[in-house]
Amino acid sequence: MSFPAYGSPNCALVTGGSRGIGAACAVKLASVSRRVAITYRHSERQASEVADQIREQGAEAILIQADLTNPQSWGEQLDAFLKESGPVDFVVNNAGISRDNLCLHATLEELEEVFRVNVFSSWVTLTKAASHMVEESRGRIVNISSIAAHENSPGRSVYGASKAALTAFTRSFANELGRMNIRINAIAPGFINTELLADMPDKVKDGYIRKIPQRRFGEPEHIADMVMFLASDAADYLNGSIIPIDGGMST
Ligand code: NDP
Repeated sequence: MSFPAYGSPNCALVTGGSRGIGAACAVKLASVSRRVAITYRHSERQASEVADQIREQGAEAILIQADLTNPQSWGEQLDAFLKESGPVDFVVNNAGISRDNLCLHATLEELEEVFRVNVFSSWVTLTKAASHMVEESRGRIVNISSIAAHENSPGRSVYGASKAALTAFTRSFANELGRMNIRINAIAPGFINTELLADMPDKVKDGYIRKIPQRRFGEPEHIADMVMFLASDAADYLNGSIIPIDGGMST
């Protein structure tokens, strides 16, 4: 992977870096970054294990405890971090939750909780990180969306709508900030083996696996490898793209 024209990330920020996809991204990014900051909400032990792995890769690890159900306080925390940290030139906007329910059973509380984390706090991360990058005239952001933004499956209306919003943000931010040497792309994972799927009954999992041409769920490292590519100069002309990584499920 090549980094020469741009230089390795000085400081990468990964929201939701304590587990799953975010943890895999943070550990891989540590091999090319000077510092890697991860946010977590409850998983303090896992977050400190990820921090150890970041240090093993030779990068400085920064842990930020933050509850993204409160976009206002997350914004204040992020402001303080961006002020203290020096240039943050790579952001993986990854933290997200799912509250699956059939359309007629979904509640306003579920809608609000999912949108607070996946949309409002993502927007806060995007706008504050991007403003900071504009000052530096450089930066890259990867939003972790989902195939649920455009694939239709029962129970996923609220989650899918939240990820569709993230897709729209990706295109608009890329359009408006591309000329300022800032690239913003999104990855739309299919089903990836993480705790997010822990509550999915085996029968439902088997049903989805039958719909995946590669007949298996992906691993967090599949997403992290694409994040590494997007961080590198090999992705220099990629901006505003929504990249599916789903074993062919959306084909
Ligand atoms: P996990 O549930 O394994 O991890 C979620 C991460 O987000 C954790 O670090 C968690 O912190 C953090 N987080 C969750 N809620 C909050 C909150 N309210 N405030 C702060 N942090 C929070 O999820 P995945 O790794 O599977 O998913 C990562 C992203 O990928 C999400 O945006 C998800 O929607 C998306 N995605 C996942 C797919 C999958 O199949 N796994 C498929 C498509 C998209 P803590 O550990 O402290 O709770």
